Amino acid sequence: MSSLFSKEKIIYKTPAEIEIMREAAQIVSRTLGLIAAEIKPGADMLKIDKMAEEYIRSQNALPGFLGMYDFPNTLCVSLNAEVVHGYPKGKILKDGDIVSVDCGALFEGFYGDHAYTFEVGEVAPEIKELLKVTLECLNIGVEHTRVGNRIGDIGWAIQNHAEKHGYGVVKDLVGHGLGRTMHEEPQVPNYGRRGQGKKIQEGLVIAIEPMINLGTERVITAGDNWTILTADRKASAHFEHDVAVVNGVPEVLSTFKYVEEALAKK
Ligand code: MG
Ligand code: MG
Repeated sequence: MSSLFSKEKIIYKTPAEIEIMREAAQIVSRTLGLIAAEIKPGADMLKIDKMAEEYIRSQNALPGFLGMYDFPNTLCVSLNAEVVHGYPKGKILKDGDIVSVDCGALFEGFYGDHAYTFEVGEVAPEIKELLKVTLECLNIGVEHTRVGNRIGDIGWAIQNHAEKHGYGVVKDLVGHGLGRTMHEEPQVPNYGRRGQGKKIQEGLVIAIEPMINLGTERVITAGDNWTILTADRKASAHFEHDVAVVNGVPEVLSTFKYVEEALAKK
């Protein structure tokens, strides 16, 4: 989606800017924690979207996706075979579904962008495994985000882990630099070759977001011209963190802590 990228050069962030971005990411993290408690069979994702919007506004922030590229909501809600960019409207969760919730917030001029794929009720073992491995892919990608590596090392590590499990790595959509715009350089593909791409430098802030499919890596765009779904209609998982390079090593600005706390209470 290179057309979405508004800047040609990587804009490295100062420590002070990274602190603001941490708060933007934490606002989104807390929003996902709030949502986590509500994810269950029968839940109406449009109501949950409104809850997310209210919470973000209560934190002196703005919903990051609302109105961006004319997207009408606060959350991207993608069910089962939907990969990303789904609408919340009309989505009532059912037992056995998985639902990817992607959320952005704009705080003091900087964006947070963070996603989690939730299980609804009892999910099939093969789908649980897909979620587990996709989360591992994200964490492995984060570990490779350090000075001395290149952007290609991140994608290589993610791809390698996913393909070891026989999964399809979505290539049509990628992670991205993050800052005063939602999508900046560099693009951060979930595939790649070791030692290729731009050098990772101090102050880099990126959103790493593996989109991993149970079956084929091929995706199509739905008739609504927004939702991306798998070509074989098998399940897809998506997790996203915001990561800054500080003192040469990755610092995750977002957190799944609030989601995990909410899920542990269920
Ligand atoms: Mg996102
Ligand atoms: Mg993103």
